[in-house]
Amino acid sequence: MRGKMSVLGFWVSLFWLSTAAFCGESNDGKELIGKQFFNQLYPGEDPKFFWSPRLEKLSFSDGTMQLSTGDKEKISAEFKVSLENEIAPALNFSCDCKTESGKAKLLIYFNSSLGKWLSENSFDLPQDNWKKVSFRIPLPPNVSTAKIAFFLNGKNARLSVKNASVKLIAMEKTGTGDKIKIQSGNSTEKCSGIYIMKSDSANMVYDEKAAKILRKYIYDSTGEILPVTVLDESPAGKLKPGMILLGKAAAESGKISESIIKNLKNEGYALNTSGGIVALAGKNPSGVISGTYALIEKMFNAVFITENEMEPNPGKSEQLTFKEMSFSASPVFELRLIHDGEALGYTDSDYIGDARYIGSKSATTCHTAEGLLSFEKYGKEHPEYFAMDKNGRRLYRDPDSTRFNVHFCMSNPDVKKIISERVMEWMKVNPEAKYFYLTFGDGGGKYCHCKECVAMGKTPTDRYIKFVNEIAAKTAVKYPDKLFLTLAYVDTEEAPLEVKPLPNVKMLYCPYPMNWSNHLEAFSEENKEGMRTLDGWLKKCPGNMYIFDYPSCCGEALNIWPAFYANYDKIKFYAEHGIKGLIFCGLRPKGGGSLDLILSMQCRVMFSAKCSGTRSLMRKRKSTVS
Ligand SMILES: [Zn+2]
Repeated sequence: MRGKMSVLGFWVSLFWLSTAAFCGESNDGKELIGKQFFNQLYPGEDPKFFWSPRLEKLSFSDGTMQLSTGDKEKISAEFKVSLENEIAPALNFSCDCKTESGKAKLLIYFNSSLGKWLSENSFDLPQDNWKKVSFRIPLPPNVSTAKIAFFLNGKNARLSVKNASVKLIAMEKTGTGDKIKIQSGNSTEKCSGIYIMKSDSANMVYDEKAAKILRKYIYDSTGEILPVTVLDESPAGKLKPGMILLGKAAAESGKISESIIKNLKNEGYALNTSGGIVALAGKNPSGVISGTYALIEKMFNAVFITENEMEPNPGKSEQLTFKEMSFSASPVFELRLIHDGEALGYTDSDYIGDARYIGSKSATTCHTAEGLLSFEKYGKEHPEYFAMDKNGRRLYRDPDSTRFNVHFCMSNPDVKKIISERVMEWMKVNPEAKYFYLTFGDGGGKYCHCKECVAMGKTPTDRYIKFVNEIAAKTAVKYPDKLFLTLAYVDTEEAPLEVKPLPNVKMLYCPYPMNWSNHLEAFSEENKEGMRTLDGWLKKCPGNMYIFDYPSCCGEALNIWPAFYANYDKIKFYAEHGIKGLIFCGLRPKGGGSLDLILSMQCRVMFSAKCSGTRSLMRKRKSTVS
């Protein structure tokens, strides 16, 4: 998954509970437009959070979107739908719409997973009374997202849209159904399909996604579309040769020994192929995704070198056979995050709460303060909710500045109540996420200097952790498995003196350039102050520590091999000191070139911790790229 759009998966999976199977022949029926695009999910939430731009003239009521130009000549608004790993020749868009005093157009355009524009289709929408429209649009190859955009022209024009729907058109059945085989001793069994099992939506999203990924790679290679069946109950005792079991179905099948599954660490996976059956289980939901990509690599005897490319290129196959084998792996770092790197072994990005559910502008932002406590909503009536600067002035928006960051008054009980409630709503509507950012806005020296906040603790870090702990203690009652990610960053870079974060609070220590100015040599003299502050945290609360790192310095952007060795040394250091999570700021695959190679090598180090030999392998790779 590369975009953030497959949060849709949650709604899709609810739909699935009432269906027996999804497969190439029954694509139609699945609604790809999530409920969040047209409906308010909880009081204080707005469907607009998922649209771009978030115009004032865009509003929603009872599932109907309304866009108006007012005194402007034209206006537009759009949202994205994920088509990641789908197999379909076309999609069908339909909606009921009404245009008053102007002209409206619908534009649907398609992008690849790297954000490349692929094609677009434009349609005039009818005027005056409500009318149903329906358009069938062919999908270009390598499509990853569809953007659905509404354009409105004419002063005081108004467009209303409801019952919007995007459904995939079923693929014509291709192939003979016998190109996929599973080894069983000296013979092979014809593969009957992929099987997953019903479970809670938080888990099933990943099993369902794993099934789609595997099905897509098999289809791309052989032209065969394997059916995916959702089992009502455990397949144990009812196994038949030819089955590919994924996720929970595999874990409960009895095909993988209980001790292997028990010994998996967070986000690990285990596979067993024998007797004509493939079983792949993952620990915690997203382990199954990493395991699926590992299985695809074994299947083609190739390695992912970018998010979409393997080396050697598997090309087309007349026959694909799952050979008998068993393997298991557990990553050293349970959280390994960049933008879009699942095939390379990074954690599925749906594991991080989509911050648009609370109103943050970006799905993946690590600064969620503006969504947690809206300055627009509360700033005027309750300036005391926001941080007081050292001159005694509460947070304000400087009209001349393009940057604005929300900082809380952490001692205010209403602030803690509002944020706790908002976070719990977020956890409820975004069940597939495990981690939720609970962080202050960017910038230094912006924490609250009011008397009550200062009295909360000796240092800004102590006060901040007390504040986060209070919210984390409240949400843990209802959501004990969810984890908060928060920042040891700039004002909170020093470890606390008086408190420790609760177990469900993970500290993202940021080796920020102020104290870590040397990006090319991890433990140089210039980074000594940074090492001291990190060491303080490791002594205080080693079990809570994750890292939010800056792997390529801006000044090194043109270096073909930016900071790899320094990152490698740091990753090794983090692993040796029990740090369990690593997020890399700003990194995303570019679709080829040295950065993708760095990303793939880096994750292999994070996953396997087989650090010996990596340096020489890197040198070899480097000379190849050079
Ligand atoms: Zn305060």
